Amino acid sequence: MNLKLNSPIDDIKGIGEKYSKILKKHNLLTVFDLLLNFPAFYIDFKKIDNNIEISKKKVYKAKIERVKLTRNFKKRLSTLKVDANIYTKNKLNSKLQQNCNNIQIVIFNKPYLCDLLKKNESIYFFGNIENYNDYLQVRNPMIFNTIENCYILPVYTKISTIKSGFLRKIFKNIFESLYDNFENLPEQILKKYSFRNIVETLKKIHFPGVYNEKLIYNNKKRFIYKEFLFFQIELQFVRRYFRKNIRINNYRINNKLRESIKQNLQFDLTSDQIRVYEEIVNDLKSKHTMQRLLQGDVGSGKTVVSFLTLLIAKINGFQGAFLVPTEILANQHFLNAKAFFKNIEIEIITGSIPNNKKREIKERLKKGEIDIIFGTHSILNENIEFKNLSIIIIDEQQRFGVSQRAALFYKGKSVDLLVTTATPIPRTMLLTLYNDLKVSKIINKPKERKPIITKIVETEKRDSFYKWLKNKIENGEKTYIVLPLIEKSDFFSQLHSIEEDSEYFKEIFKPSQIGIISGKTPNIEKNKILNKFINGDIKVLISTTVIEVGIDVKDATIIVIENADRYGLSQLHQLRGRVGRSNFQSFCYIIPSQQITENGKKRLETINTTNDGFKIAEMDLRMRGGGIISGFEQSGYLDFKIADTKRDYEILKLAKIDAEQILKNPSLQNDYITNNISSLKEKIKKINFS
Ligand code: ADP
Ligand code: MG
Repeated sequence: MNLKLNSPIDDIKGIGEKYSKILKKHNLLTVFDLLLNFPAFYIDFKKIDNNIEISKKKVYKAKIERVKLTRNFKKRLSTLKVDANIYTKNKLNSKLQQNCNNIQIVIFNKPYLCDLLKKNESIYFFGNIENYNDYLQVRNPMIFNTIENCYILPVYTKISTIKSGFLRKIFKNIFESLYDNFENLPEQILKKYSFRNIVETLKKIHFPGVYNEKLIYNNKKRFIYKEFLFFQIELQFVRRYFRKNIRINNYRINNKLRESIKQNLQFDLTSDQIRVYEEIVNDLKSKHTMQRLLQGDVGSGKTVVSFLTLLIAKINGFQGAFLVPTEILANQHFLNAKAFFKNIEIEIITGSIPNNKKREIKERLKKGEIDIIFGTHSILNENIEFKNLSIIIIDEQQRFGVSQRAALFYKGKSVDLLVTTATPIPRTMLLTLYNDLKVSKIINKPKERKPIITKIVETEKRDSFYKWLKNKIENGEKTYIVLPLIEKSDFFSQLHSIEEDSEYFKEIFKPSQIGIISGKTPNIEKNKILNKFINGDIKVLISTTVIEVGIDVKDATIIVIENADRYGLSQLHQLRGRVGRSNFQSFCYIIPSQQITENGKKRLETINTTNDGFKIAEMDLRMRGGGIISGFEQSGYLDFKIADTKRDYEILKLAKIDAEQILKNPSLQNDYITNNISSLKEKIKKINFS
């Protein structure tokens, strides 16, 4: 059967029911959707030189000399050790030289490979060779018996259980029967940028004849451009529409309100907080609804400004909503809010609230019996109705999801919106992305704050460090300990895990003094433990990075970060920001992994020498790569599928200008764009969020 770009994936040869389901779950519905899933990288079999380069991912050719499988049936673990000879020509140091032809390939938990790897046969493997005590080893490389017919092998990120090899086969099948001249970009754009036919270009991305990074990027450009162009068309279209919308909800904000706020706060607002508050007040008095972004480093005091904004809604007889990224954070803000908003009806909706209670809350929201609702972002998607919602706060927006722009614009019909973030987005980037979003900044932290002191603990001194810490804790200091993994991993054997280290910590600290939470801890349990930590019933909170965003335990003064070199700079800064939230002196102890990459070293040096979130964010974009754990980190500010706002900024700028032209001049539109715009019109008609 001939395939078209919009053929359903079920028409593709080789995709069974099971995989079809998985792909659909990932929103990959058509051949085109699937083809836009580009290779993560390529292996170039034409360029095998067998020169050993330690710690660098490369492809080598080797001859198998010995295969040995050990299994632990009880634990369902296996280790396959393959001694292989790679006949390298390069010179390593003298001790290594003796061993350097002999590489040990270690493969965990793939016992079936044992039958495929036979003595005296040649194989190729792709991985990084490491030097372990003068023996060369490569762990869990990709192994190939033959080169197939394809010298430049595309490697794909797994989609759930669908592996790279399978995807490759599917893509081959697709291209064998795909004939389509479909075009989504207008003629004049194709000419202007010399973009070529979609199918032809896709083929060159998936199966390039020669490996040339620049060429591949050039081929990707038309898809990156398309993503930006349609984003910009939508953005500019929606914005034009809403601009006509004049404010509906009017607020009275007078000095009496300001006075009563002053009396109710436990601290004086900083001059930055006051300035930002006044900027918000001005927005609320203006003809148009507020679309404001509040930037401020971790711990700078954004929450209280948000609360004060919500208070304006309440006092004027409207409802407010406070949305956050995680349930823990929703609970924490809710607790704080209870103390802050006296005599005001506040409620919280999260996944762990029982359904009957949820129903009751929804009822009361509709009737206007609840003044301010707390919850995760997802409550915008549940069909919650308000009596008269007027102000929405979206807190701790680390990254502006493309889908979240809906919250920024669609929900903004007559609702005032404040988004807070600790991510410093450069001004030029913001202007390109959202040119009528106004920005407020909190630059200085409350003045009694002492800068956090950061120290690197040598990995070998870990034990004695924890013994020293035990004393500190017995003297009353509250401490976070952050570990990267929940369960022990053979693959990342250097990384500490909750599973492996809990016993260790229970031996060092008094078991009654520690609490352990991870992404796997049920939310109710998580809250209980967190509350104990806040109350001081426990002194040490051991956790994965679930505590990263926004958690505010004022009197926690120490944070220990294990395998710190494996985090991105911004993430480290967020983690460190869990302490230093009061006028007590706080400390951040970072413990590196045993083996640490050059990039990892640089990141630690940076975090060790600066406390400035803006500087760190800037460096972060330059210092990615080199063994960061979470594979999901993208460097851009918005998560597009293919495009990256940072890397592709130049293309974004072009797409923005083109979108303006195309919207102004319908003769530049092709059918695809015209249809797109009419469906936007439909969508806007349906919006009713107040
Ligand atoms: P973030 O900007 O990271 O969201 P928070 O709003 O959680 O920071 O504030 C951090 C801590 O600083 C909180 O414990 C808060 O109560 C406190 N805080 C906020 N403003 C002030 C202020 N003007 N003076 C003293 N402490 C403040
Ligand atoms: Mg916050």
